[in-house]
Amino acid sequence: MSNQTEMRVKLIDFAREPMQKLYAAFRTCYSSETPIEIWDKIKSEKISKEKIREFILERLKTGHASPLEQIVFWFGISNVSRSLSHQFVRHRIGISFEQQSQRYVKFKQDKLAYVLPGSWTRAGLESEFSDLLSKTSELYAKALKLGVPAEDARFVLPNAAPTNFHVMVNFAEMLHICDLRLCVRAQWEIRRMVAMMRAEIKRELPDIAVFLQPKCGENRMGYCDESLDEYHKCPLSKVRPHKSILMQLYEESSKFRKARPLGEEQYRIVAEQERL
Ligand SMILES: Cc1cc2nc3c(=O)[nH]c(=O)nc-3n(C[C@H](O)[C@H](O)[C@H](O)COP(=O)(O)OP(=O)(O)OC[C@H]3O[C@@H](n4cnc5c(N)ncnc54)[C@H](O)[C@@H]3O)c2cc1C
Repeated sequence: MSNQTEMRVKLIDFAREPMQKLYAAFRTCYSSETPIEIWDKIKSEKISKEKIREFILERLKTGHASPLEQIVFWFGISNVSRSLSHQFVRHRIGISFEQQSQRYVKFKQDKLAYVLPGSWTRAGLESEFSDLLSKTSELYAKALKLGVPAEDARFVLPNAAPTNFHVMVNFAEMLHICDLRLCVRAQWEIRRMVAMMRAEIKRELPDIAVFLQPKCGENRMGYCDESLDEYHKCPLSKVRPHKSILMQLYEESSKFRKARPLGEEQYRIVAEQERL
């Protein structure tokens, strides 16, 4: 019997009225009104939802990113592998994780559950993988029975062992995670999980979700900065440009401008010119 698990990702909750919160956060920076006055206008609907939406979409095209930290999402994520979790917890800023413990949880099933990459199935190695997991399960159970604590018994568990997360992440970090992990350079399982997180946000907040893209997306950096070799292998290269192609166009489109390395002259202009 196969004990393969199936990944689940659910948007548990998000901070109430994220569009209004984004509006108020951005507006506070650009208005003589106080945040309380801005909120009075929002609540009394003196500012229409459409106006709020338009204003935010314009702001999201700029580099003014700190207001995005005021929007928060909570996710329940289950049955992802320990290979994935090791990558996921490398994100350090704007995200909080709670992960199922292999110290406090003793896995009691006869055969431990596992995540099986499709490549093992395609290589015809699924049953060997499964047999090894059966042996591992027996040894793990035997160790627990003989008094080895769970925190030590887990040393035989593989990267394929499933785990669960409760995650809180803000919008700024969610954008960054999508930049990196929706790129096909990212490993398939974390890519799939982040795609599911995006789909969950899209279901509830489509206006916000349009910005959750790989870094080459039209609402993000806009071009691929990976190596040209990797770019040519990527299916998105059919619809998104590579950095070198844009540079080439820049050179070709202007008789007078040439891309040159920045020299002291340019640093002086940046430092000394009052109005650019
Ligand atoms: C395709 C791919 C391959 C990878 N391969 C490897 C690998 O082989 N080995 C390996 O160890 N890791 C690897 N990683 C993980 C990678 O190095 C990062 O640890 C991971 O992507 C987390 O992202 P982040 O550093 O942007 O952290 P986040 O917490 O997501 O960072 C958020 C933002 O804050 C900034 N930031 C975070 N911390 C600081 C800080 N201390 N100072 C200043 N700015 C900060 C970041 O620059 C970023 O803009 C890989 C990641 C990807 C996507």
